[in-house]
Amino acid sequence: MAALYRKGRPSDYTYRAMKHEKTPGISLVIPIYNEVDNVVSLHHELTGVLAQMGRSYEIILVDDGSNDGTRERLAAIADSDPCVRLLLLRRNFGQTAAFSAGFDHARGDVVVTSDGDLQNDPSEIPRLVAKIEEGYDMVCGWRKPRKDPLSKLIPSWFGNRLISWATGVRLHDYGCSLKAMRLDVVRGLRLYGEMHRFIPAVASWMGVTLTEVPVRHRPRVRGSSKYGLGRTARVLLDLLTVKFLVAYGTRPAHLFGLMGLAFGGIGLMILGYLSYIRLFADTAIGGRPLLLLGVLLFLTGVIFVNFGLLGELLVRTYHESQNKPIYVLKQTPPRRT
Ligand code: UDP
Ligand code: MG
Repeated sequence: MAALYRKGRPSDYTYRAMKHEKTPGISLVIPIYNEVDNVVSLHHELTGVLAQMGRSYEIILVDDGSNDGTRERLAAIADSDPCVRLLLLRRNFGQTAAFSAGFDHARGDVVVTSDGDLQNDPSEIPRLVAKIEEGYDMVCGWRKPRKDPLSKLIPSWFGNRLISWATGVRLHDYGCSLKAMRLDVVRGLRLYGEMHRFIPAVASWMGVTLTEVPVRHRPRVRGSSKYGLGRTARVLLDLLTVKFLVAYGTRPAHLFGLMGLAFGGIGLMILGYLSYIRLFADTAIGGRPLLLLGVLLFLTGVIFVNFGLLGELLVRTYHESQNKPIYVLKQTPPRRT
């Protein structure tokens, strides 16, 4: 049990719930931030669906530092339902951190994620779980049609295509929180920043089998969205990070080294040409812009190659000092007791 809680102490609610339960079959993880008017219906709808599935379950509600009375409602829900485990984050750490906290505490063979604003329809959960039972490691929801304002739909249309193209993972909807995955996949995920959108890309790098299913989506009825247009730029930067880490995370010298060789090579050719005409054609080269370009390219090349070597040192320090493997094992999910 200690291994399950290696990152922080579970709340009193968690301990209380654990006393009542055996290890559940399904863990539902829901990040919640200022959803005071949604949480009661959320719990009601989730319980209705999960109870009909005929499998033991736990609902891990992660309160991400709410300050609108959500916490008090969640506490009352956790008190009344032993299947609910409540994790209270000290402040608003963001949706990714909330997912991560939930994952660290999840025990079910199948982990299902969803949003706390009821935009995802809980009645889709059995279909996702059925796909996992078919043999997939991860099943992603595809909100179809998506019931959000155009100001969200347009950037996300471009974002989804870009992520799909850049990561090579062919999904239609990366922003849908409704997902199901096996516990061993969840255990292997390390999430940072706002990277929960890239869970499929990271999982795909781990070698998991992925599929998507269209799911019903509903407009937000109560409360307000926590994201604005600023999200687009952040997603683009995250995409760059994920692309870099997945492709070159263990071999940075290949990326920086190749760029360095290309720049440095072109610079060297330019300098060679200028030296030749200076020495053999007796042409003055001191005032030529080409000289500046050649020197700049050559120096940039040298710097990039050195970046690559520094990167290699960092990677080795990280993997060797922390005993991090550069591979992922396919493990069978832990057996229920
Ligand atoms: N959320 C969270 N922490 C945050 C922002 C959002 O836990 O800092 C939760 C939020 O309460 C909701 C889910 O993440 O349950 C999705 O947020 P939202 O509905 O605002 O996103 P949208 O559907 O507008 O993209
Ligand atoms: Mg929402």
